Amino acid sequence: MRSTRLPAVLGSRYGPLLVVQSAANLLLAVWLYLEYTHNPFMQTYVSTVWAAIWPETTIGISVAIVAFVTFAYYRRKHAESLIARLGSKPKLEDLEGPSNLARLDVCPFCEITLRPISEGRLQCRKCRRYFKSSLPKMAA
Ligand SMILES: [Zn+2]
Repeated sequence: MRSTRLPAVLGSRYGPLLVVQSAANLLLAVWLYLEYTHNPFMQTYVSTVWAAIWPETTIGISVAIVAFVTFAYYRRKHAESLIARLGSKPKLEDLEGPSNLARLDVCPFCEITLRPISEGRLQCRKCRRYFKSSLPKMAA
């Protein structure tokens, strides 16, 4: 799954707005930093405020990171299982690549690799469901 979201956003009609907003944010951040380094009153203000809000800020950032990672992982796993379900109707081009073999031999309920019990028959190690092999029988 290729992620071409950022260039797509930049190419859309919101692209110029996004660039201008990013530039404005960067400019304001630089200005804030310069003000902080040169203004002793702002330094005391920032240290006072930071001492009061740092636990909430740390927790908030941690929660955001965990949520983002969980979402990204779930999305990837969901997309893979969707591909596996779509790939259960075997196409010739799907069967040719050796990397696709593992994807077809996965229990659609548990997402665990199936155990071959006889020719053309597979069993899930976890839920014990039986499956017909979607692969063609080997001539050799
Ligand atoms: Zn299973």
